[in-house]
Amino acid sequence: MANQEDIFKNIVSHAKEYGFVFQSSEIYDGLSAVYDYAQYGVELKKNIREYWWKSMVQYHENIVGIDAAIFMHPTTWKASGHVDAFNDPLIDNRDSKKRYRADVLVEDHLAKIEGKINKEVEKAAKRFGEAFDEAQFRATNTRVVEYQTKSDEIRKRFFSALDRGDLEEVRQVIIDCEIVCPISGTRNWTEVRQFNLMFSTAMGSVSEDASTIYLRPETAQGIFVNYLNVQKTGRMKIPFGIAQTGKAFRNEIVARQFIFRMREFEQMEMQFFVRPGTEMEWYNYWKETRMKWHHSLGMPVEKYRFHDHDKLAHYANAAADIEFEFPFGFKELEGIHSRTDFDLSAHQKYSGKKLQYFDPELNESYVPYVVETSIGLDRMFLAIFSNAYTEEKLEDGSERVVLKIPAMLAPVKAAILPLVAKDGLPEKGREIMEMLKYDYMCQYEEKDSIGRRYRRQDAIGTPYCITVDHQTTVDNTVTIRDRDTMEQHRVAIVDLPSIIGSKLRPRS
Ligand code: ATP
Repeated sequence: MANQEDIFKNIVSHAKEYGFVFQSSEIYDGLSAVYDYAQYGVELKKNIREYWWKSMVQYHENIVGIDAAIFMHPTTWKASGHVDAFNDPLIDNRDSKKRYRADVLVEDHLAKIEGKINKEVEKAAKRFGEAFDEAQFRATNTRVVEYQTKSDEIRKRFFSALDRGDLEEVRQVIIDCEIVCPISGTRNWTEVRQFNLMFSTAMGSVSEDASTIYLRPETAQGIFVNYLNVQKTGRMKIPFGIAQTGKAFRNEIVARQFIFRMREFEQMEMQFFVRPGTEMEWYNYWKETRMKWHHSLGMPVEKYRFHDHDKLAHYANAAADIEFEFPFGFKELEGIHSRTDFDLSAHQKYSGKKLQYFDPELNESYVPYVVETSIGLDRMFLAIFSNAYTEEKLEDGSERVVLKIPAMLAPVKAAILPLVAKDGLPEKGREIMEMLKYDYMCQYEEKDSIGRRYRRQDAIGTPYCITVDHQTTVDNTVTIRDRDTMEQHRVAIVDLPSIIGSKLRPRS
């Protein structure tokens, strides 16, 4: 059995080999943590974006979309707190010269302790069988309690030091936990420094008039500064939402795990404006609604979980992540944040413009509260891609790699394959292609044996292979092969659009 690390390596190479994701500027040895989407990747990415957009904008009468520019007035980032507070604590190992995020080192250490606890629980569950009471075991087993207390203490000490900006104490926690550098294996750590994650550039042609502007680190601020324009021109009534998808940039220090953490990535965000005092209701509504969206894709529900934050960002009064089980463990996929009136009030203060809403029901004006849902498109891509990647041993002893991508998101929906490239079969195939291609992304292929063509389509996740054979020329029927079960059925050509269409809807 291959271990998770090997499987992840296979996933990354499959993404390259089959035209999903390439390293950026590969001919120059690549640019770290920057990636390009290739011919199939771009289709999958577009389909995810479209499904998100439909679910948020088209299916909600009170949500509209915008597309704000990446460049924004520099004061935006002062008001949002990003200039002063969008920092990561950095630490270097003097021996390996490798740089780490201090919080990631400590989180990894805590995850190891959690792993030890889980092992104890598993062992005990086996020993006690059906009579096992996990909650009681966790509360009373001396070793587990010891681990848990230690972990709670470290967490409390570390995050309170971070909150206070006490970087010496942050370093001391790393020393006291005896955390070693994974490369050099030593504890020869430098001091901890804060590092701002925003990329900056200059706008203006002559250096004297140039002003520093930032590449947006989140798309949300483009929504906030447009909130009143949209509310007025769209005659929106609270509660209402504004959605946006687009690029964001962060100078991430620890860039690893493929497209999980990139320096240029795409976000899909929705800011929901509500009456102050109702934000917790809406926060819970959006937590649930977003989880339902994920489940509607039909990926295993046990691969998702919520992680409620104890440590809140400067703008939030409640926050939770939807985590997904990637091949390297459960990690954040989406964030749902109750952002209070922090952003709108800050923009009101810095711009000197009123950003209030007149509520006709209450007959009063106020700055709305905001609940945000924010998901990384690239991370969603990785969640789908890694979950879809399957190495299968078949009954006849052969092997296949198949991407079990949810059918409605698959890059290519159907492949049209004449059994042989003669006897009028290609002409029939072309007719079918002409019938389907206006509604579905299809591929026509006549080269190589049919078996090889099936394998190629499996490897890019095509849900349907339509094979044209000699019988087709007699009675206008074809075989349609299901990617996952590999079963084939004979169907009439005229029924193809409805058969394909029926599988391409979300599960509610
Ligand atoms: P992390 O803790 O992983 O750095 P974050 O909490 O900073 O993420 P948010 O600011 O809440 O992330 O951004 C919302 C979403 O954007 C995340 O849930 C994630 O899916 C995505 N995202 C954030 N940073 C990156 C990145 N560097 N590369 C790819 N996606 C990202």
